[in-house]
Formats: sequence, C-alpha cells, structure tokens
Amino acid sequence: MSIKIENLTHVYMKGSPFEKKALDNVNIEIEEGEFVAIIGHTGSGKSTLIQHINGLLKPSSGKIIIDDVDITEKKINLNFIRKKVGLVFQYPEYQLFEETIGKDIAFGPKNLGLNSADVDKRVKRAMNMVGLGYEEYRDKSPFELSGGQKRRVAIAGVVAMEPKVLILDEPTAGLDPKGRDDILGEIRALHDEYNMTIILVSHSMEDVAKLADRIIVMSEGKCILDGSPAEVFNKVDILESVGLAVPQVTYMVKKLREKGINISKDVFTVEQAKKELLKILNKGRRASK
Ligand code: ADP
Repeated sequence: MSIKIENLTHVYMKGSPFEKKALDNVNIEIEEGEFVAIIGHTGSGKSTLIQHINGLLKPSSGKIIIDDVDITEKKINLNFIRKKVGLVFQYPEYQLFEETIGKDIAFGPKNLGLNSADVDKRVKRAMNMVGLGYEEYRDKSPFELSGGQKRRVAIAGVVAMEPKVLILDEPTAGLDPKGRDDILGEIRALHDEYNMTIILVSHSMEDVAKLADRIIVMSEGKCILDGSPAEVFNKVDILESVGLAVPQVTYMVKKLREKGINISKDVFTVEQAKKELLKILNKGRRASK
C-alpha cells in the first residue's frame, strides 16, 4: 500500500477572475504504516491536498497513484478509493444524522453492499477501535453525547469502511484538553494496534510533535519541508517565515541552551523535556556527591 502524489497542481475556478492555484506541483510519497502530519497556515492547500488523496477533487494536472492504481483516471471505481482511503473532515460530528450511534456508523458499510451480519461486525469493531463500547452506546442517540464522543462516532463511521489509510483534518479542533488527549490516543491506537496509515492535518505543533513520525509543511500550495520532527522543527527560521512555530517547549529548550545549559536541541514534547531535564539534574547530583 503506497500513495504517490506526482506533480499535483490544482487550480480552483480556472479562467474566472477568482482563479486560485491552491496546489502547485506537489510531489509526496507515503508508504504503508507511516504516521504523517501535514501542517501549514490557513489557505496553504492542506484541505485541497487531502481531498485529492480520496478522489473528491481531481487534479488540474498531475497524478495520484494508490497501490499502483492511478485514481485520477476517469473510469476509476469510487468504492475502490473509499475502501483504501478514509477521510474524516473537520467537525465531522455535524454530519451525524441517524437516530442511533449504531445506525450512523453502519451507513458507510451498508453502502458498500455488505450483508447485515457483516455490517454489524464492522460497527462493533469500529466502535471498539475508537473506544466506544458496542453494547453501551449502540442504541443511544449520537446527540446525547459529549463533543469528544460525538467526534469518535463520526471517526468510527469512517473506520467502519476499514480503510488502509485514514486522513483526519484537524481532529482535535474545538475539543477541551481531555477530549483532545482522548482522540489523539485513539488515533495513535489506530496506527499502532490496527496498522492504519495515518495522515493528520493539524495546526497544533504540540499534537504533531507527540504523534507523527514525519511532518510535511505546506505553504502557498507547495510542499516546502518534508522530514522527521527533528529535521522539520530544527528549521525554525523557515517555519517562522511561513507563519508557523515550533512547539512551545522547544522554544524553552532553546532559551536554556542560550543560557549555557547542555540540553539536547531535539526536544519537541513536554515528555522529552522532562526526561532531558531529569538527566541533567541527576548528573548534577552525582557530580556533587
Ligand atoms: P488549508 O486547508 O491549508 O486552509 P485550502 O486547501 O482550504 O487550504 O485552500 C487553499 C487555497 O485555495 C486558499 O487560497 C483557498 O481560499 C482556496 N480555495 C479553497 N477551496 C476553494 C474553492 N472551493 N473555491 C475557490 N478557492 C478555494
């Protein structure tokens, strides 16, 4: 399973006074099992890019090849793409509409033409995958739930299609810290336990630093950086020049280094900072003994 994006350009409203080149010759390759984050300022082309990966948008030029199949071809079967790539939009809970959680999650698998026993199996599995007990929640109305739980139901609806790749557009937007941590934990589990390839669009450098193995930075329709968190977050000047920042804790570490404290510059999460600071503290204690 691989995704190859080749020379992808997308122009909205071509030929009109509102013509806008939203993607400009983007080349990205994503391998099976990767956890990739896409970051970029509003309007940098992130949503346009992900909607190409699940075939919702067609390129103005360029190709998207999934498992050796060019999905930009006219005769491509949409079910082929839906089974490979699931897309969770921003605020997906606004799209919940059935009277029970079970029915809502069953909607996608039913449309794939599965029989009702198989649909049930998928619903059960998807609910477990996002941490919602099947027996407890199946017959409840989605509208009785908290914001974070509603979002899990919406994610389960996509997961029930059993895609190989799951794309999530700002999955923590608008949630409180607990809801945010829960959802991020579930996404991590979808990757670690269920081997899904994850593409996470996020504004939060903290979330990205905690979760992703690889970060792609978009600016003005171009992919300007692509690498590990260490590679990307060490390019502070480039990030700041496109209106982005490194995680807060990385700025703190930079200040400590400027004050002469010998701490690794590759610190991007609070957990990493804690480890590094304890190391320094223990070294100091040993030296003073
Ligand atoms: P992001 O997800 O990074 O905020 P988008 O992909 O939504 O960026 O937008 C990229 C650019 O394309 C922006 O300038 C935006 O205004 C423009 N754009 C997005 N959707 C449309 C559309 N349906 N019609 C015209 N322009 C659009």
